[in-house]
Amino acid sequence: MPTIFFDNTYIKLGDDFYVKTHPSPVPNPSLIQFNKEFAEELGLADSVLSTEEGVAYFAGNKILEGSEPLAMAYAGHQFGGFSPQLGDGRAVHLGEIVSPKGVRYDIQLKGSGRTYFSRGGDGKSALGPVLREYLVSEAMAKLAVPTTRALAAVTSGEEVARMQLVAGGILTRVATSFVRVGTFQYFYAQQNEQAVKKLADYVIARNYPELLNVANPYESFLKAVIDRQAALIAQWMQLGFIHGVMNTDNVSIVGETLDYGPCAFMDDFAHNRCYSSVDRNHRYAYANQPSIGQWNLVRLAESLLPLLGEGDVDPEGAVKIAQDALHDYKTLYENYWLTGMRAKIGLQQAKASDKKLIDDLLDVMASNKADFTLTFYYLSQLDSVPSDKDHKLQKLFANNDLLEVWLGKWRERLSVEQLSDADRQANMLAKNPVVIPRNHQIEAAIRAAEDHNDFSVFHALHKVLQSPYALAEGNETYRLPPKAEEVVLQTFCGT
Ligand code: AMP
Ligand code: MG
Repeated sequence: MPTIFFDNTYIKLGDDFYVKTHPSPVPNPSLIQFNKEFAEELGLADSVLSTEEGVAYFAGNKILEGSEPLAMAYAGHQFGGFSPQLGDGRAVHLGEIVSPKGVRYDIQLKGSGRTYFSRGGDGKSALGPVLREYLVSEAMAKLAVPTTRALAAVTSGEEVARMQLVAGGILTRVATSFVRVGTFQYFYAQQNEQAVKKLADYVIARNYPELLNVANPYESFLKAVIDRQAALIAQWMQLGFIHGVMNTDNVSIVGETLDYGPCAFMDDFAHNRCYSSVDRNHRYAYANQPSIGQWNLVRLAESLLPLLGEGDVDPEGAVKIAQDALHDYKTLYENYWLTGMRAKIGLQQAKASDKKLIDDLLDVMASNKADFTLTFYYLSQLDSVPSDKDHKLQKLFANNDLLEVWLGKWRERLSVEQLSDADRQANMLAKNPVVIPRNHQIEAAIRAAEDHNDFSVFHALHKVLQSPYALAEGNETYRLPPKAEEVVLQTFCGT
């Protein structure tokens, strides 16, 4: 059995950055799912992790040789208020491996017991959130959205106390970095400029190596993070995805979707849709995500000010550099959004009127409570002239008058494009998934697992989400929006 080679570099930053810790053993773990395909990418498919013994490692009952478990320190703005010390209260960082392709990954257990940063919490996770993160993060990967990945999920064999006693679970999650905007804020708030610099140098060398030799590495780093966040949030918006807890401690420095909590994909479209039970003021509602993204990046820029002001740059100069970089966010975001949305409605050329055309569609969808995913999926199948195929789309809209007006404008716009219907439809179907992890289906998978110890619903849903652009015959129910009695109005952290 090949050994797993850990190559831990974060631990070398020094003990300001983490607290060494150990996962807490659990009584009777059992494997729910091992992600063989991703394990292959990581070079772990032939390791002990893919054997029966794997479950002991995924449960934290055994520690792999070379792993140096720790809990990372970080701060963060939560719903606008600053917490100077959060940290991994429910995650244990096992270490780093380098994949056969040379990509360095962090591996963590989530829900494996108390750490130095747990405060009042138990450091554990209920089974529901483990299944939810597994399903949604792996669906995101298949939708080509940057994300942390799920390597394995296990039940712990013990109950955890939430609103009531519920089954516990542990997720093994993997990222190209678990450093957050909040990690920079942690040291900035302590006025520990040296640590801010050390952290920036570490992240640049590891995740932005192209910036190592540029003239202004920290300015370029800030700009690169801004660019990745703009691209990421545009992708969320294009899929109707609502993160739900865009606190700065949940904003990845490498632009991956991080910390899946009360996240959700929208069914019927509303600009201000918000599912999270903890987001009382709807701060992280769908339409707010782009601007909250910028607000979060302002917090990063603040933390980097000491570095932006190095050398000949005075403090005002540093502020100016930060402001200019942040100013670009809006344009970057809008470009990413518009490029992606154009593709979703089948446009290859760029015309000034396109933004209005897309905004109009979203408004018509909102006023008719049309299903987000199916609107784009059915639109992808339409011809450039009206036909019977229009009916499927029409049925999604409560009132068709505005839709008809919009389709007329869309077809007029299509007439300027050069593609045949068949080619355009193929392009659109490659951008508009037929299946996304819908709340009611995730809920059904969780209910079956928690209430009946039945993981078949989870496995079936996971399988379907592996190919979001093609639905096999017999799987039609996965395409459908919830029936009235299935609608999930609120999602919970539940951890
Ligand atoms: P989140 O926004 O859900 O990613 O978590 C916010 C903070 O709360 C992080 O510092 C977590 O480590 C911590 N936290 C969440 N749940 C627990 C738990 N069950 N036990 C200890 N800490 C937790
Ligand atoms: Mg978090």
